[in-house]
Amino acid sequence: MQVNPAAQLYRLQTLDLNIAKLRARLKQIDDLLGKDEEVVRAAAQRDAASESYKPLHARATDLELEIKTLAEKIAESEAALYSGATKNAKALQELQAEVNALRRQENTLQETLMDVMMQVDNASTAISDAETALTTAQETSVIRQTDLQAEKTKLEGDLSTAETKRKDQVAKIDPAALKIYDTLRPRMKGTPVAVLGPDGCMACHVEQTSIINQQVRMGTKIVYCESCGRILASA
Ligand SMILES: [Zn+2]
Repeated sequence: MQVNPAAQLYRLQTLDLNIAKLRARLKQIDDLLGKDEEVVRAAAQRDAASESYKPLHARATDLELEIKTLAEKIAESEAALYSGATKNAKALQELQAEVNALRRQENTLQETLMDVMMQVDNASTAISDAETALTTAQETSVIRQTDLQAEKTKLEGDLSTAETKRKDQVAKIDPAALKIYDTLRPRMKGTPVAVLGPDGCMACHVEQTSIINQQVRMGTKIVYCESCGRILASA
């Protein structure tokens, strides 16, 4: 059987392109495995929700305490007012005025507390929403990671097969032809071989002379595209 170096190199290029594709996807998978941006984002949102809850809850507790203290004060003043110990009309009037002032203060605090409690409720809802979102993100992540792991295992098998095929293919190729391929490969961005179609080189789309066409069809030696310099293989 006559050896066609360009055809052999073209086959090698196909294998190399496939290997590069498998490696790129494997690298992508490795980057995705173990860290899930959606989970990180959902966790940050949960933490933020929980952070905004804390001061509101503390404020509500403070207000409750203030109201309790005030209620005690009111009780004391009322006790003094109704005990009968004070007979002086002006002193009684003053006591009554004090009780009224304290009650107004109590009302204001109660209103503020109601407002803060509503904010506490909203913040609490935000926390449970964020927690639900986080759980969903974690569950989705587990499924995605399992899928990625399965894909990785499959691709590793494919890569191993492709590398064996490449080794077998390299063994068939004349070392001089292989050297040309290896030299051209980085310069041609991984495609040092182009198919010569009816309209010319299929990489740069430039028509070739009839002599080149003939030489490529014969396939006994390496012929280059006159325009882009790639090795030409017959279709
Ligand atoms: Zn070309």
